[in-house]
Parts: sequence; C-alpha cells; structure tokens
Amino acid sequence: MPKLFIGGEWTAAVDGRVRDIRCPADGSLVATVDEAGPKDAAAAVAAARDAFDRGPWPGTPAAERGRLLLRVAELLERDKARLARAESLDTGKRYVESQIDVDDVAACFRYFGQLAAVGAGDRVVATGGADTESRVVHEPVGVCVLITPWNYPLLQAAWKVAPALAAGNTVVLKPSEPTPHTAVGLMRLLTEAGLPAGTANLVLGAGPTAGGPLTADERVDMVSFTGGQATGRRVMAAAAPTVKKVALELGGKNPNIVFADADFDTAVDYALTAVFLHSGQVCSAGARLLVEDPLHDAFVDELVARARRIRLGGPFDERARAGPLISAAHREKVEAYVAAGLAEGAVLRCGGSRPADPELRAGWYYLPTVLDECAPGMTVVREESFGPVLTVERFHGEAEAVALANDTVYGLAGAVWTRDPGLAHRVASRLRAGTVWINDFHPYVPQAEWGGMKQSGVGRELGPAGLAEYQEAKHIWHNTAPSPLRWFE
Ligand code: NAP
Repeated sequence: MPKLFIGGEWTAAVDGRVRDIRCPADGSLVATVDEAGPKDAAAAVAAARDAFDRGPWPGTPAAERGRLLLRVAELLERDKARLARAESLDTGKRYVESQIDVDDVAACFRYFGQLAAVGAGDRVVATGGADTESRVVHEPVGVCVLITPWNYPLLQAAWKVAPALAAGNTVVLKPSEPTPHTAVGLMRLLTEAGLPAGTANLVLGAGPTAGGPLTADERVDMVSFTGGQATGRRVMAAAAPTVKKVALELGGKNPNIVFADADFDTAVDYALTAVFLHSGQVCSAGARLLVEDPLHDAFVDELVARARRIRLGGPFDERARAGPLISAAHREKVEAYVAAGLAEGAVLRCGGSRPADPELRAGWYYLPTVLDECAPGMTVVREESFGPVLTVERFHGEAEAVALANDTVYGLAGAVWTRDPGLAHRVASRLRAGTVWINDFHPYVPQAEWGGMKQSGVGRELGPAGLAEYQEAKHIWHNTAPSPLRWFE
C-alpha cells in the first residue's frame, strides 16, 4: 500500500487513516493509500528542516545536484510506461497523454539539471574601491512545501521539485488526494538516484488536514502552490502570519481569439484541442472562444460538427480522444456551470449532458459542450468550469477582441489566430496573460517561464525565473583592509 515518505522512510499515517483511490473512468478501486493528518505533516516538515539545517544537500556543489537531476531524468524515461499507466489510472487521462506527460517531466528534470550545473548567476559587484570585495550569491530558500493539483499530477510536481532541488532546498510534496501514485513513484526515483534522506518528503492527504498545517508551519520557508484560486487565497493567508515566501499558479479563463482572416480549418481544429484536451481539465484551456463577426456562424457550425464526433472513453481505449472528469463532484460542478450559462441566455449547440453510452455510465464522463451567443457577464464566461465547456462570444474588430479577452480577473494564457503578423503581435502585446500563442495553442517548453498575471498567480515556474523562485540572493561585502571610520570623533 502506498505510504508517506518522511525522512527517507516509507511510513504509515500516525492515526492509521487510509483512503481508497478510484479510477475516474469506471470507478474501480486503484489502490488504498495512507492518508496523512496534521501530525504527519509536522513530522515531514521536521525531517525537511533537519535535512536543510544539518544535511548535505544545501551544501552539495550545484553541478553535483544537477547531475542527480539528470540521473532522475534517465530513470523517468526508463520507467515511463509504469508511471504513465499509474497516472492514467488515477486521473482517467488517455494513456498516450500520460506518456507525453512523462516525457515532459523528464525534459523538466533535464533542463533544471543543466541549469543547476551552469550556476545561479552569482556575480562580483564593482564597488569602486581597491579594499573591498563585493559579490552576490544565490542560496536556497530553505524548506519548501510544494502543493499540487490532480490534473497533471507528475508534471506539476516536477515543475516544483526539479527547480527546488536544483537550488539546494529540501521539500515536502503534497499531491492532490485522488492522484497520489506518480508522486510516490517520483520519491522512489529520487531515492534511487541518490538524494539524501529527508531532502524530499511526501505527504499524502487532504487539503485542509494535511495541506493546511504544512502551509501554516513556522519551520517552512516557502510554499509553492498550484491549484484553484479560492485555495490559493487560503494558502496565501495561512502563510502570511509567518511571512513565508509564496508562489501561486492558479486557474485561467483563457481567451482564444479568431480573426476573420485566420486559416479556417486549422483554427477550428485547434479551437477543439484548446478546450477539450483532457476534457477541459487544463489550467490554460482555451475555454473562451472569441470569433470575429463575419466568420462566426460558419466557424461555430464546423466546430460543433467536429465536437459532436469526439469519442469519449477510458485511458486504454485507443479509439477514445477524451476521458472522464476527475470525480462525480467535479462533474456536478461542471453541470452547474452549464445550467447557469443556459439560465443566463447562452445557446446550447452541443453536449450539455452526460453521454448516453451505457459503457461509459460507471465513469464520470461529460459530453464536449459548446455554448454560443455568450456575453461577458455570464457566470460560465467569468468563472473557471475546468470541464469540457466552451463559451463562444462574437466580436467586431481588434479593439473589441482585446477588450473582451482582457475582461477577466484571470491572466494565465491566451491565443490569437490571424494571417496578419502585425495584428497578431499587436494583440499579443496587449493581452494581459503570462503566455500568448500566435496561430497555435498549448505548447510550452521548460526553457520558457510559465505563470499568470492578475489573479492567475504570483511568480513563475520553468525557465530561469522558475529556478530563481527557489533562491535567495545574498550580498556579501568584504572589507579587505578595515580601519577605523572615526565618524563619531
Ligand atoms: P485545488 O482544489 O485548489 O487543490 C490544489 C491542491 O491544494 C490539492 O493538493 C489540494 O489538496 C490542496 N489544498 C486544498 N485545500 C487546501 C488548503 N486549505 N491548504 C493547503 N492545500 C490545500 O485545485 P484542484 O481542483 O486540485 O486543481 C484544479 C485547479 O488548479 C484549477 O483551478 C486549475 O486551473 C489549477 N491549475 C493551475 C495550473 C497553472 O499552471 N497555473 C496548472 C494546473 C492546475 P486535495 O486535493 O488533496 O484536497
């Protein structure tokens, strides 16, 4: 039975609590896992604190830390099939997508392994005096609590674990309750690669009872959180009394803007992937489609025709193109958003219900749904449903497109489709979002920063800034020929 990993030991929860993990595709039991409470959270923080204050990792040369991460990348590739299978069983995600995720996770470890070896940009500062040496060095922040969501469990963990370890921190990882298995797998690989005991710890358990105590613990120096906006606010508030460093990767309500001159076939194709990939359970999903008026009717007709053909199925059904939602409760939330949209005047063009197929009845499936004639004030346009629900708004010209796109508290990602490079770049520069795609949707690379403007987050993951999040800059000034100042004489 998967257990907690604290101070280099696999351990049961102190109070003996366990949780059943069920596959969203059919509700079958995947495994029973140990479930941490506050005492386990405190023990994991104690182990990470001890490993930071007395263990070898923070003082290990950066190049050596980098080599260990490169070794982890190799191990991830070796175990790709096993990890991808575990991810698919926990999330219900297509196996092929889980395999891509593991490739991306290995690439992330490789990137931060190489970046660690390059060094953190320590520098000598010119002071203008012959008798002083001044330099800026980068040190680890300390004990980092890393809290991750269920949609990309291993990937989101990697975006935090790899840079945090590269920088020399010790960590406590808390994955989301329904998707613990690849976090367990990652701890095993880190151990196999030679990470010292206590450097990486794993707490499996619920947000309020395991995550809450971790974020409030005064021995923790930093919390890096990926998840929903409401939880992000709670995390920030819990970290405030002890003034922890906080990094937040929150949700999005991402605009996908299609101008009338866009390549019709490609833009329709990508509009589907933008929103229905992983059944919409993607923070950067293109859930708000904005189409220029002259193109609107033909574009939406074609989109709806193709959306109706999307085949749903379990992770190992090779004909399926999208899977279930994570839980029954989440499906109910998505259903409530669609109902609110219809009540507020949206026009249902397809979907809007659970599939009729009896083979899918045991899973938490929901049909790809297109809501047309939407308006900016509608709840389903403003809030993140995190499901396979596309809202469509029409616009007239560039200024209205930008205004509609930015009319949201979120600022994670967005896309613009046009054959006019000048228009594309003007719109891209005016979108208030951390990532903008031109004539594309979804790609990212570990070399480029990822994160949100406005209420989509604080800080950045990936790229050099993703490493800097886990470092403190320290200025060391050395007076090499000290003599009295005599200021007060
Ligand atoms: P969530 O409900 O906010 O949970 C995220 C994590 O926080 C889970 O591990 C959860 O634990 C934990 N948690 C819950 N309450 C907590 C508390 N009081 N203190 C500390 N931790 C707590 O989000 P989710 O439903 O898992 O994920 C979906 C959200 O993540 C969406 O909004 C999505 O947009 C966002 N997301 C953002 C990005 C990005 O890069 N910006 C990437 C992926 C996902 P339990 O689940 O175990 O209760």
